[in-house]
Amino acid sequence: MSDRPRVYKTEGLVLRRRNLGEADSIFTVFSDREGKFDAIARGVRKARSRMRGHLEPLTRSHLMLARGRTLDVFTQAETINAYRNIREDLERTALALYCAELVDRFTIEHAENPGLYDLLLSVLDALEAGAPPHIVRYFEMQLLSLTGYQLQLDVCASCEARLPEAEALLAPSAGGLVCANCRAASGGGRILNVRAIKVLRFARGAEIEAFASLRVDDDLAHMLRGALSDVLHHIAEAEVRSDRYVDEVARLSRVQTTEAPPTVQ
Ligand SMILES: [Zn+2]
Repeated sequence: MSDRPRVYKTEGLVLRRRNLGEADSIFTVFSDREGKFDAIARGVRKARSRMRGHLEPLTRSHLMLARGRTLDVFTQAETINAYRNIREDLERTALALYCAELVDRFTIEHAENPGLYDLLLSVLDALEAGAPPHIVRYFEMQLLSLTGYQLQLDVCASCEARLPEAEALLAPSAGGLVCANCRAASGGGRILNVRAIKVLRFARGAEIEAFASLRVDDDLAHMLRGALSDVLHHIAEAEVRSDRYVDEVARLSRVQTTEAPPTVQ
């Protein structure tokens, strides 16, 4: 920590804010070089704050920060893209906030993931330019790959048998499609038809523009949204459980090795 400069620059996208005291806010930012971090903007809720408007959820900004004892402090912020078209449309705002929340859930602090940063910007750019809602399925599939949870869609995720060109069960606890023989022991999931399976396979390697131009009717959109939602919930639940376990171990080791309680701002 000690060799890090006291002041640093980065660019990032604001994922969320929470207010602190009368006029301050803490922003969670996902950045190209620093990964995800929290920092405090002092006085940002005052009318005369120069950072006001440059630090808002779903704003991409150039940022300058000073290292703080517990939290770093924003010293400058300048908007690169405020995504005005997204902001003016409720549905697109909800989709963009959903993507930001997924990034927040699937990342840990100060772990760089430039691929995920580029993905988040590319989906926001696409939504800003009017891409259809199913673009979020592309985001989810790419996010799973970039965070180490790529779905197995080519062979059975349980026994690795070849999958026939037919409907198949997408089983979150197996981590992908399972064959008919493994279905009963797979822990459940959703049956996907051949078209839905093809769309998910296409999402892994396609360019975002090509995926945006796919024709996806309401039934297919509903099937894909439900299936990926199940997968993401399953992973998030497992992560929450392991986080609790880590917290518990940390708490026990503190009790055993230190006398003073940890300082909390
Ligand atoms: Zn199988």
